[in-house]
This record gives sequence, structure tokens and C-alpha cells, in this order.
Amino acid sequence: MKKITLLGSTGSIGTQTLEVLDYLQDYKVLALSAGKNVRLLCSQIEKYRPESVCVQREEDVKIIKSKFPEIEIFHGQQGLIELCKNKNNDIILIATSGKIGLKPTLEAIENKIDIALANKETLVMAGEIVMKRACEKGVRILPVDSEHSAILQCLADKNNKPYRLVITASGGPFLNKTRAEMEKSNALDALKHPRWHMGRKITIDSATLMNKGLEVIEAHHLFNVSYHDIKVVIHPQSLVHSFVEFIDGSMLAQVGFPSMHIPIQYALTYPQRQKGIKTDGFSLFGQSMTFEKPDFEKFRCLKMAYEAGLAGTSSCVVLNAANEVAVNNFLEGKISFLDIEKTVEKALCEHNTINNPSLDDIFALDKEIRERYDK
Ligand code: NDP
Repeated sequence: MKKITLLGSTGSIGTQTLEVLDYLQDYKVLALSAGKNVRLLCSQIEKYRPESVCVQREEDVKIIKSKFPEIEIFHGQQGLIELCKNKNNDIILIATSGKIGLKPTLEAIENKIDIALANKETLVMAGEIVMKRACEKGVRILPVDSEHSAILQCLADKNNKPYRLVITASGGPFLNKTRAEMEKSNALDALKHPRWHMGRKITIDSATLMNKGLEVIEAHHLFNVSYHDIKVVIHPQSLVHSFVEFIDGSMLAQVGFPSMHIPIQYALTYPQRQKGIKTDGFSLFGQSMTFEKPDFEKFRCLKMAYEAGLAGTSSCVVLNAANEVAVNNFLEGKISFLDIEKTVEKALCEHNTINNPSLDDIFALDKEIRERYDK
């Protein structure tokens, strides 16, 4: 049995990971972590019997302790870090949302434990530091996101380096809406993603196309490809999950039914493949595929993500923090949809680049931006 810790087990990626683990049947879950959904975590503890768990709030520790006195219970960010110290893990899947994923990722690297990484913010905030440390420790960072998984799959032949990456984007719920219509949209409209069922933050990021911008930054770090050679293409059917172009002009694509089970499973079984949960259900008959240029003026978050990537780490930290705060403000009805991009734009305009920021610089800048833009 391989041993796994799953951070963010109560979320969209977390619950789908548990479905994959149920299907594969050769994993022992050592630890789980939740934010506030204690009820779901308790039912997961009942089923998977982990040795340890972590919850976001200290007051929830007692509730779990009363039901499961035999297990070790941590809380807060330090608790997530503690779970990543257990060297018995073969792999840790990081599916918490937001910046909370960064420190546990670094701890897992320190302990030479391979990582399946769903959490976007980790590489966006500190991609250079994370990838450098992972390389020094010989730790694999295996992407869970469908686009990066697609690229990893296209790069299975290690003899050939990628020439260009083409990341596909569904275009989200506002692909065919005008900016005037986008401005009037509320959270319910923005949360109606046409293809994927995901957590709230990433769903809003898909509506602004910031999600695609964050993926471009992640791809730059994961595959060491310059921003000029990473393109985004709108592909509303979400059947091609990304392309890799090679030096001879040949392009490889990874195609499949839009389901996160496939990339989650590939990260867990990499570099092998095993029969998947939904392998019998997908047929190409009757499917059509279209590819269009993204509109950078309509979706300014995508444009700003490229600019931040080119400007360097500190701008990416500002982009990420301002966006996360603005998305929360939008979800709480405090700002309009287009105020999300305005917030990010203002934060980036006011920022003076910090060269080669340390982790302390990154966390200080992240805190400063959140405090400044939270409503
Ligand atoms: P969800 O919002 O569905 O789940 C987030 C998970 O993180 C939950 O388990 C939540 O706990 C936990 N969590 C949130 N805040 C905290 C905190 N402060 N401390 C501890 N735990 C916390 O998100 P998704 O599953 O959609 O996404 C997770 C990550 O994966 C994100 O970074 C996202 O960008 C990335 N991703 C997601 C994809 C998807 O298809 N969903 C695809 C590719 C990447 P609780 O619910 O108990 O409060």
C-alpha cells in the first residue's frame, strides 16, 4: 500500500481525490485536512481512519477529539505543516485553496516527500523558490490541474524539450457576454461554469480568466518555458486540455472527457497509467472542437497575469493577493464583477518591484496587499 496525505480533503479536488483513491484501492490515507467543514471531515475519518487530521479552527479540535479520541488532531497552518513532516508518506496531495498551501508544500519538500499539487497559489506566489528547493531535494512536483497534467502527459518522451506550450481555456460563463453584461453580473451568474464543477474561488477566477493567467504562471515554473512561448487558446468544449509544440512544428495534445479524476489519478500513478474511473464513457463521435484567440481587452485579468509573470515574483504575489481579496469581496456582494480586475490593476500599478524576494518578503507583501484591498 502506498501512503498518502490529502490536504483539503473536503473540497472539490479533495473529494474527487478520495473517489480516485477508492477506485485505485492501493493507498492508505495517513492524514486528511479540512477547513471548516467538520461534518464532512468526520465522515471521511470514519471511512478512511487516518492517523492524523487538521482543521482550520482550534474550536473544532474538541468536536473531533470527542468522536475520535484515538487520532492526532492539529489545527491552523502549523497543523498542516505538521502533517507534511510525516516521512512515511509516499506522496502528499495539496488541494487546499489559497495561500495556505505554500508553507505545507515547502515542508513536504524539506522532508523529501513527492507532491501532487492542485493548489495554484503556491507556484504563483513562490514558483522559483518552490521549484529550486524541489530540485535540490529531488522531490517531484506533479501537477493535478488538467492543463498542466495534459502538458506533463505530452512531455512523456523526456528526450524532447517543449518549444511552445498552448494552454486551453473554456472561456468560462462570460465568454459570449459583453463587458456591460459582465459588469451587471452577480456571484450566482459568475458561479455558473459551463464545463467544470469547482470551488467558488477558482470558478470566479474562470469567469475573469484570471484562472488561465495563474495557470500560465504555474506552467512557466513547472516546465521552465518562457512567458513568450506560453499561449492561451479559447476552446469552449474543454476536450483538449492543452498542447505542446515541438521544435519540428509537431504538436501533441492531450484529449479527454472534462473530468478531474483523470489528472488526479495521473499525478498519483505517474509515470504509469492505470484503468481510470470513467474510461468507458467518452466517445469522440458527435464532438466538435473549436479554437479561438482570447480577447485580452475583455478579459484584462489574463493580460495582467502575463504582465505580472514577466515583471517577476513580487508582481505575481501582488496579482494573486489582490485577486483573492477582490474575489472574496465580490462573492460577499461588496464589489462588482469588473471591480475585481480594477482592484488587481490598481495594486499592480502601485507596486514597486522587489528583486529576488525572500519567503519573508513574499509573505510580508502578501499581507500588505490583503490588508490594503480588503473591504
Ligand atoms: P474548494 O474551495 O472546493 O476546497 C478547498 C479546500 O481547502 C477545502 O477542503 C477547504 O476546507 C480547505 N481550506 C480552505 N481554506 C482553508 C484554510 N484557511 N485552512 C485549511 N483548509 C482550508 O477548492 P477546490 O478543490 O476547487 O480547489 C483547491 C485548489 O486546487 C485551489 O488552489 C484551486 O485553484 C486548485 N484547483 C482546483 C481545480 C478544480 O477543478 N476544483 C482544478 C485545478 C486546480 P473546507 O471546505 O472544509 O472549509
